[in-house]
Amino acid sequence: MPEIKNYRNLIGGELRAPSSGKYLDSINPATGQVWARVPAGNKDDIDAAVAAARAAQPAWAAMPGPARAHIMRQIGQIFMKHGEEIARMETTDNGRLLGENVQRAGIGMAYVWDNTAGLTLEASIGRSAVLENNMMGFTRREPYGVIAAIVPWNAPVAMTCGKASLALAGGNTVVVKPPEQASVAVLRFAELLAEVVPPGVINIVCGEGPDAGEPLVSHPGINKISMTGSSVTGKRIQAAAAPNLTSAIFELGGKSPNIVLEDADLDAAAEGVSTGAIFTGNAGQVCVAGSRILVQRNIMDDLLQRIRAITEKIVVGDPFDARSCMGPIVSQKQFERVTGFIEAGKRDAELVFGGRYGDVVVPSMPGGYWVEPTLFRTEDNSLSICQEEIFGPVAVMIPFDTDDQAIAIANDVNFGLASGLWTRNLSRAHRYIREIQAGSVWVNTYRQPRLELPFGGYKQSGYGHDDIYEYTREKSAIINPI
Ligand code: NAD
Repeated sequence: MPEIKNYRNLIGGELRAPSSGKYLDSINPATGQVWARVPAGNKDDIDAAVAAARAAQPAWAAMPGPARAHIMRQIGQIFMKHGEEIARMETTDNGRLLGENVQRAGIGMAYVWDNTAGLTLEASIGRSAVLENNMMGFTRREPYGVIAAIVPWNAPVAMTCGKASLALAGGNTVVVKPPEQASVAVLRFAELLAEVVPPGVINIVCGEGPDAGEPLVSHPGINKISMTGSSVTGKRIQAAAAPNLTSAIFELGGKSPNIVLEDADLDAAAEGVSTGAIFTGNAGQVCVAGSRILVQRNIMDDLLQRIRAITEKIVVGDPFDARSCMGPIVSQKQFERVTGFIEAGKRDAELVFGGRYGDVVVPSMPGGYWVEPTLFRTEDNSLSICQEEIFGPVAVMIPFDTDDQAIAIANDVNFGLASGLWTRNLSRAHRYIREIQAGSVWVNTYRQPRLELPFGGYKQSGYGHDDIYEYTREKSAIINPI
């Protein structure tokens, strides 16, 4: 049995043990076994990290954009050299298929840092206006100062890199709070980062939400918060940030509709609503999971036949095995949540396929948090399986007859993150794009959050976007040429 390592926080360029001296177990969700320990950070660690970030920020902001971009590209090089190692750690930590994590936590992060490095110049470009009497107006884009980045467990390295790279491109420094369930890959990144980035520019403090997250978001030394996670936590953070009126970006949960119209290409749609949207390598633990499949009634049986044929081939198993299509659920707590919804679905709706969980799904790996792809069918959109984010490989199919009905069902939910539409009819597509209340509408494709376009939520899926404009603020100036 390999030795279980205690990882450390990165504060002011130093790797530091938590001031409490306490650590949290990191569990491999494919085995249920402890494989590493991460710091149980608290307010003292957060105070030190915020102080380090504040001290480093003026010099970082004063550096010319190309020089900052150069350092950011060197950060990206960490992933060229260590991407495979970091991706393997993330898979051990959160159970996402290794093949996906190579992009989400490995070499793909080199591209993120390279791409965002290019935004250092964009971050300094403001607007100008010629006013009456030759007065000249213009804006200065300025950094906020110190950004707090709160990161969830389903893509810890990707979220850390996305938020930290935007913060740095905007001339800010950052304190990252990775998720307590899956921080190891981020803390390995921290070890490698310590050698590349000036002290205090990126600080990483691990710990539980109330102990480390809350002191961070309520800290008066934080100028902006970027949080990705559940809507429940988003509301807590908004309340904790209120006394300082700290502005925030919230990328929260979803219950996204994936709608199939009678004129769709049914083969493409079947793939798009199943393996393309929910029964994926991260076992449906994806914020944009298309967990409500809305189907025009007259094609429902045809579509279902195709979905069955696709999902029968899904292999649930070891996320390191290239033959696996889906890994485990991240933790015991999340496993209990997902299986609770499966039991509610069995009680309230028709079980179409799946519904089994635990060792019976992957007998060769007992103790893992396994759930098989599960589909329910109902006409009642008010059920908890239709309204609440399950965050597992569990979808519900809801039939409709008319476009009016489909749009009403799609919008009859508190969330509004993503949506999908499968149709060959352009004018119907335009109507759905207009009327669906969600931050993204993907037509004849799914799972397309893109760096080229804003990605964010409506309703309780949050507000704001992780893009360069939101990591800088604009000051207006007017010069009167007297
Ligand atoms: P979570 O809300 O439980 O935790 C997210 C982060 O917030 C963690 O780092 C946690 O420690 C921290 N936190 C918890 N309580 C806090 C507090 N009081 N103050 C400050 N920080 C606190 O979410 P999760 O379970 O880690 O992730 C799953 C959720 O994330 C799902 O709802 C999913 O939809 C959402 N998500 C959204 C997006 C998006 O872009 N919209 C992307 C990925 C995940």
